[in-house]
Amino acid sequence: MADKIQAVRGMHDILPDQINYWQYLESVLNRLLSSYGYLELRLPIVEKTALFKRSIGEVTDIVEKEMYTFDDRNGDSLTLRPEGTAGCLRACLEHGLLHNQQLRLWYHGQMFRHERPQKGRYRQFYQVGVEAYGMAGPDIDIELIALSHRLWQELGVRDVVQLELNTLGTAQERLLYRDKLVTYFDQHRDHLDQDSLDRLERNPLRILDSKNPDLAELISAAPTFSECLQDESMAHFQHLQSGLGDLGIAYVLNPHLVRGLDYYCNTVFEWTTTQLGAQGTICAGGRYDGLVTQLGGRPVPAIGFAMGLERIILLIQEVAAEQMPANVPHVYMIRLGEMGEQFGLQLSERLRSALPELRLILNCGGGSAKSQFKRADKSGAQFALIIGEDEVNKLEFGLKTLRKDQQQQNLSEQAVIDFLKQTI
Ligand code: ATP
Ligand code: MG
Repeated sequence: MADKIQAVRGMHDILPDQINYWQYLESVLNRLLSSYGYLELRLPIVEKTALFKRSIGEVTDIVEKEMYTFDDRNGDSLTLRPEGTAGCLRACLEHGLLHNQQLRLWYHGQMFRHERPQKGRYRQFYQVGVEAYGMAGPDIDIELIALSHRLWQELGVRDVVQLELNTLGTAQERLLYRDKLVTYFDQHRDHLDQDSLDRLERNPLRILDSKNPDLAELISAAPTFSECLQDESMAHFQHLQSGLGDLGIAYVLNPHLVRGLDYYCNTVFEWTTTQLGAQGTICAGGRYDGLVTQLGGRPVPAIGFAMGLERIILLIQEVAAEQMPANVPHVYMIRLGEMGEQFGLQLSERLRSALPELRLILNCGGGSAKSQFKRADKSGAQFALIIGEDEVNKLEFGLKTLRKDQQQQNLSEQAVIDFLKQTI
């Protein structure tokens, strides 16, 4: 036999035994986002490489080490999207959606990053991204955070997540801060790892984002942004905090939260949890007013966030699995003999018409009563509905409880419908 070909490392199949978590999360998100007036858009998975280099920033982990980049058959450099903001903005500019407009958008889909795979970190993963354009904030900043907060409440994970908040001010204020940081880290050169020494030259703010535990102490003593903030940025940040206070949304200020992408300004935030080990950030975002001009458009204020769905699902499984709606069939229809098969087929379609919510599995491929009951049991169905020659002659069908006390009732077709209407 030939060797079996396996999936690419870090890229996972989502099998049917997990799919109810995905469908549940996606349906909650769909409803929630539309209740806040956000519109979905669907974007290509592949974009021109230049789009990501220009938007994410050349000196970032993503662009330097994580992108899946290849030349297509025409020799154009293309990249599997590592995140969605760039493509979303590209689409809005290309279709003229941003002209003097306010827009609330979201998208959903696979992202690709060549990272070391581990729990909560994959090479293909799913994000839902939410973006708001044309609003300078901070009211829209508050709305986005309130929306994510409501999501945690609905999913039953509110108690195990924490909101971390920071501001990165304006580009000018960031330059000032950059100088302070360079001076500070330069004095402690001998404590820096190679990665941070590189960043010191090229992108010193990113040292604050280092995941090396040996640097934690040095980083926590580093100068903070607040020393460089001017009145306007300070007012934005304070307004944001008082709005969150009004809504009763708790947060902690994390002066070293910088985020992995270069384009952020003013508000940045992350929702984190301690339940998932090192991969604790389930949602992250911030304001990126400068990005539209960087991509060739007129200036448009913008803010957004993205959340990693695998990590959210891990969290639901950890702390809120009992909230999950069941996804097992209600009825497994057992069909015995030729008459039972023929009548059962037609009855199953009548039941589906009468009860659109019904999840019914029709026994196909024959089998003895015993083997059909085995399949019924394995399917997880609540009831077996038994259609044999006798039942067809009497027009009374056996409805047997499979999970509890195994009672059987004999019911007419209408009585079966009435019973299921009440029960499912
Ligand atoms: P991290 O610090 O964990 O690497 P990040 O700052 O690179 O995250 P973002 O680019 O902000 O992440 O992406 C937003 C969210 O997408 C993250 O908070 C996380 O939930 C999820 N995410 C990012 N990278 C991965 C990955 N490789 N596998 C699974 N989820 C991911
Ligand atoms: Mg990362």
